Amino acid sequence: IKKLKSELKKSELVAVSKYVPVEDVEMAYQCGQLDFGENRVVDLHEKAAYFRSKEYKSVRWHFIGHLQTNKVRELLKVPNLWAIHSIDSLRLTEELLKRESDFKGPELKLFFQVNTSHELEKTGLESIDELHRAIELVLSKKGTKFKVHGLMTMGAIRTDNFEVSALKSFRELKIIRDQEMQKFGLSELKLSMGMSQDYKLALAEGADYIRVGSLIFK
Ligand SMILES: *Cc1c(COP(=O)(O)O)cnc(C)c1O
Repeated sequence: IKKLKSELKKSELVAVSKYVPVEDVEMAYQCGQLDFGENRVVDLHEKAAYFRSKEYKSVRWHFIGHLQTNKVRELLKVPNLWAIHSIDSLRLTEELLKRESDFKGPELKLFFQVNTSHELEKTGLESIDELHRAIELVLSKKGTKFKVHGLMTMGAIRTDNFEVSALKSFRELKIIRDQEMQKFGLSELKLSMGMSQDYKLALAEGADYIRVGSLIFK
């Protein structure tokens, strides 16, 4: 983690802890890592409950997995939930807004996931129109604690050249980010992109958040 952090300038490291038991997450926290990513609501719930029982108040949980609408309430109740990186449909956006009262924190950062690799098994907003509508829905809710914070993407998995594919995805996300900022007059929209195998490329392309798991925990 220290080595990774030395490679970051202004970007944030989300340490993806989905592979490991809570004791390992605790160790990383005690070394000063505060941001952790989980992709299953049940696991996140368990880990967050443990952290709460230990009064580890500075932890920031990032949800990064596919979120089913029937798990939304459980997720929103997670103590110290900081961000959701994987909002992949208008329907999910509607459900989140509907269930907002289950969220007890001060603010929740939302990232909309864009399927830039166009692989069918990946989730993510496929059309710019759906992305517009999802962003618009959050922005139009008065007094909401939900913040339109950024866009997220992943490079292709099935590819002969992951570097070329990842670059293509990251550049596409940047173009979409610029368009959305302009369309909605936003002063910033962050980029969540880059995992163990392609985080260096993501940093070079201006990632604000990288999500790194296996490199740290495996
Ligand atoms: C697992 C996961 C990561 C981390 O992947 P590594 O290759 O282990 O670094 C990042 N983002 C998402 C959405 C993930 O599911």
